Amino acid sequence: GGSGSAATIKQVKLERESELRIEASNDAPLRLRLLNGTAEIFGTELPPEIWLSFPPRLKFAVFTWYGATIEMDGATETDYTADETPMVSYVNVHAVLDGRRSRAKASSPDDSESSKGPRVIVVGPTDSGKSTLSRMLLSWAAKQGWKPTFVDLDIGQGSITIPGCIAATPIEMPIDPVEGIPLEMPLVYFYGHTTPSNNVELYKVLVKELAGMIERQFTGNAESRASGMVINTMGWIEGVGYDLLLHSIRTFKANVVLVLGQEKLCSMLKDVLKSEPKVDVVKLQRSGGVVSRNAKVRQKARSYRIREYFYGLSNDLSPHSNIANFSDLFVYRVGGGPQAPRSALPIGAEPAADPTRVVPVNINRDLLHLVLAVSFAKEPDEIISSNVAGFIYVTDIDIQRKKITYLAPSAGELPSNRTGQPILLHKTVTRG
Ligand code: ATP
Repeated sequence: GGSGSAATIKQVKLERESELRIEASNDAPLRLRLLNGTAEIFGTELPPEIWLSFPPRLKFAVFTWYGATIEMDGATETDYTADETPMVSYVNVHAVLDGRRSRAKASSPDDSESSKGPRVIVVGPTDSGKSTLSRMLLSWAAKQGWKPTFVDLDIGQGSITIPGCIAATPIEMPIDPVEGIPLEMPLVYFYGHTTPSNNVELYKVLVKELAGMIERQFTGNAESRASGMVINTMGWIEGVGYDLLLHSIRTFKANVVLVLGQEKLCSMLKDVLKSEPKVDVVKLQRSGGVVSRNAKVRQKARSYRIREYFYGLSNDLSPHSNIANFSDLFVYRVGGGPQAPRSALPIGAEPAADPTRVVPVNINRDLLHLVLAVSFAKEPDEIISSNVAGFIYVTDIDIQRKKITYLAPSAGELPSNRTGQPILLHKTVTRG
């Protein structure tokens, strides 16, 4: 690589149905534009001739159906052209979904079954390209004028909000290749860990809450209902992970299951879902362009997501630092802790941790450098069933003066409970 001078400008000619796979350099953005022809990034068409700037480390592909010339300016970790892609099979799936949406729209809204658009769930091992396929299906649908709901159940590498959450948001326009999923009004439920095994019961409860909320929104919105959902899942497909997948498929009443690159998972799901006749299980090929990420890279990606939440993609946001009295905030933790003292249990019984118990947390230095979710709950017993408004990051705890200093993305007031005091949830995993 070089450093952004004219000498680094390079033209790439792409034949039909091929793609340019790029990993932007680790420390500098990459500029790119479409010189001629037509091309798209994960389902979103590139505007002709306009330079787009991609942040460091971004991994993506510029695909063309009919041929294109691309101009690149800047260093990359890698860039190469591939003419073997699964894109034709992906767009065929899109065409089938599109037909189902039209049929749903044309049928009477009183018929709750036939007016229901496709509910697609994308499953597969880690690094099989689930998020990318979800994104393409959403962008192609939005280009057609639909408003599909994107549901992201991946608490580790989700793309709607910060890690540790499940979330949903309507997609009304093809997803911006640089900015990603729009963040206007996402529906977010806070889980607080980046792996579901920490509290499997809580994960299931939140999936159910999210599904119920979307179902209620669909009742009053025939357009969203006909457009359906695209649901992205975690890469955990063995044991409890598999059970959680089945739980999500059933809870969201998914009727199309797309299995990426795993024969075994596909036949297992086909087998168990065959008694549920309205569910189609379809196996799709994994793209050779999907980049594998190890645990360290994933951890880094999580920190960047949290940073991005407060500071913006390119440091364009300035979070507000606020100071509150300890007495102004209520902090709660969900799960953990024995339900009953040992003395209250029958002899020989072990106290079981109640996975959905809400426990008050004393404000002390343990909260330093934690991300806390701001709940819409009015009372502690509503915390589990409430979505969250946003997040704060604790930057200082002054025990003597009983003051807590935190960053919030905006200066606006935190949503509050009936006594006028905000309820916060304790985030137990992601430290600074
Ligand atoms: P996870 O294991 O987190 O569930 P996933 O299965 O959702 O991962 P993706 O996030 O879709 O996988 O893909 C992994 C990475 O590979 C992403 O950075 C994505 O942008 C990149 N990628 C996917 N497809 C391509 C492609 N065709 N060319 C280049 N990069 C790609």
